[in-house]
Amino acid sequence: MGEGRSHGRKAIHASATPRSLMTERPVLAGVWTAQVITLFPELFPGVLGASLTGKALDEGLWSLEAIDLRRFGAGRHRNVDDTPFGGGAGMVLRPDIMASAIEAAQRAAPSRLPLVYLSPRGTPFTQATARRFADGPGITLICGRFEGLDERVIEAYGVEEVSLGDFVLTGGEIAAQALIDATVRLIPRVLGNQVSLEEESFSTGLLEHPHYTKPADWEGRTVPDILLSGHHGKIADWRREMAERLTKERRPDLWRAYRKSRVMDPVDDQELSAQPHDAGNTRADKG
Ligand code: SAH
Repeated sequence: MGEGRSHGRKAIHASATPRSLMTERPVLAGVWTAQVITLFPELFPGVLGASLTGKALDEGLWSLEAIDLRRFGAGRHRNVDDTPFGGGAGMVLRPDIMASAIEAAQRAAPSRLPLVYLSPRGTPFTQATARRFADGPGITLICGRFEGLDERVIEAYGVEEVSLGDFVLTGGEIAAQALIDATVRLIPRVLGNQVSLEEESFSTGLLEHPHYTKPADWEGRTVPDILLSGHHGKIADWRREMAERLTKERRPDLWRAYRKSRVMDPVDDQELSAQPHDAGNTRADKG
């Protein structure tokens, strides 16, 4: 039934629910929903079907619907693209075809979802974007192929453009899966241990501190003594210091934003310039 295919036991289709009841959907129907308009629906759930996101999908903590753009194609060959006006290499996805797919997606959605086109021209995707999407009812993603999407459909539907980074992929599907992964893991109960969310990279404005596990001595490399001390306060201080050093060294942009937001005391630039490994007794060969 309906457009495309559905993944997840409890995926909801609007066609099963009268419009008047939609504002009072049961909790189950309010599950966070990702719709993906793509020429390659068979690529979904892809990596999202594995591990914690896959388990959460099976448990109905979120739902996924891949919508096959080809089904809306024109003519006997179901064409979805054409040559660019003004000339040039490559093909462009047609606005009328994409509009049909978008409208089918909107009819199938349990509520109005933000419409996002994965595009290298978009606003860079960050943890804050993932948080914004996770806090909403879901998302409808458009995966481009070829040279991309006709500009008019972006304008007509007020589509938000989001980029995964300053590089060019062949299509939007990998970007869509990355965006969904980063977003879905913020939905309550998708990750078992919510505490780990609060400490990880970006949530504090810092990159995360280094991790160590057993064995305590691996081929002569030991772990920082402080981590074996059992002193939780000191361990927390050490981790914060490591996070600050890493951020300062690797991401001066994040470091500046962090310091601005914290109204920190001026920090001596030399103070935090050491390598993270130097701070603890990490290497046996250090003597
Ligand atoms: N001609 C376009 C690139 C098209 S790549 C340009 O120069 O901007 C084909 C499709 O891959 C795009 O429509 C988009 O959906 C996806 N894509 C490529 N790079 C991406 C990126 N960095 N982030 C998100 N999506 C990307």
